[in-house]
Amino acid sequence: AKAEGGNRACFFEPAMDDKLRARRSLEGDLRQALAAGELAVHFQPQVELGNTRIIGAEALVRWHHPERGAVPPTDFIPLAEDTGLIGTLGEHVLRQACLEAVGWAPLRIAVNVSPLQFRQRDLAETFARILAETGFDPRRLEVEITEGALLQDSEQTLEKLRRLKALGVRIVLDDFGTGYSSLSYLRQFPFDKLKIDSGFVRGMDRSAESAAIIRAVIGLSHSLGIRVNAEGVETSGQLQALRREGCEEAQGYLFGRPMPPREFAALLRDQAVP
Ligand code: C2E
Ligand code: CA
Ligand code: CA
Ligand code: CA
Repeated sequence: AKAEGGNRACFFEPAMDDKLRARRSLEGDLRQALAAGELAVHFQPQVELGNTRIIGAEALVRWHHPERGAVPPTDFIPLAEDTGLIGTLGEHVLRQACLEAVGWAPLRIAVNVSPLQFRQRDLAETFARILAETGFDPRRLEVEITEGALLQDSEQTLEKLRRLKALGVRIVLDDFGTGYSSLSYLRQFPFDKLKIDSGFVRGMDRSAESAAIIRAVIGLSHSLGIRVNAEGVETSGQLQALRREGCEEAQGYLFGRPMPPREFAALLRDQAVP
C-alpha cells in the first residue's frame, strides 16, 4: 500500500484510520487546552538594522501538551483551521500578547492572523474590543497575514483590512515570495510592511539569484513606501548583506529565538542602557 499521498483508497486502510483517530484525539486535546488557557505566547525580537536595537517582537503561539510535550504550531494551526478552532485560538493569542506586552511601549507587537479568520464578519470589531480590554495601543499592533488571506474573497478581506487600519493597526504581508502573484497584491492592499521569506535570506550567501530577488523586492517595496523585514537571519554575513541592500529590519536566531515573556522582558532591560 502507498504510505502517503493522493491515493484515495488508502483512506480506508487501517493506517489512515489510526491517523484519523490520532487527529481526533489531538483535536480534543487542543479544544481542552484552549478552554483551559494552556496555550502560551512566546516573543521573538525584531531589530532595526541601522543600530541593531529591538523595535518589536513577533508573538508566536506555543502548546506544551501534557503527554506529547511541545507540539509545533505547524502541526496544530492547520488542525485549528480545519476544526473551526482558529478564531478562538487567534483571539487567545492576541489577548495574551497584548496583556504581556502592554508595558513594553514603544515596542510593536506582531500577531499572525490566519486566512480563515478573515471569514469572520466582525474580525476588526473583535480586535478593537480586545485592544480596548487590554489597554494596548492599536498603533503598536501589527497584523501579519499571508497571501492565503488575499486569495479568498478579496473585497471582504480588503474591507476588514481597512477597518483594522482605521484603528491604527499596521498590516504586514508575511512569507513574501512563497506564493504566486504577490506583486499585484502590493498594489491592491494597504500594506505597511512586507516580510521576505526566510528561504531567500538563507540563499543569500550561496546563490546570486536569492540576493538578486532580495535586492529587487527591497527596491520595489521602497518605491511603494513599504517597509521591509527579512526573516530567518542566522548569520552575520546575511546581516551585512541585508544592511547593504537597505533592508530596514530583521528577525532570526542571530538576534534571538522566540522566548517566554519573562525572558524577553529581561532582554529588553539589558538593552536599556543609558
Ligand atoms: P511564521 O509566521 O513565518 O513565523 C516564523 C517562524 O520561523 C517561527 O516558527 C519562528 O520560530 C521561526 N524562525 C524565526 N527565526 C528563525 C531562524 O533564524 N531560523 C529558523 N530556522 N527559523 C526561524 P514557529 O514559531 O514554529 O511558527 C511556525 C508558523 O506557525 C508561523 O510561521 C506561522 O505561520 C504559524 N504560527 C505561529 N504562531 C501562530 C499564531 O499565533 N497564529 C497563527 N495563525 N499562526 C501561527
Ligand atoms: Ca509571521
Ligand atoms: Ca513568515
Ligand atoms: Ca511561514
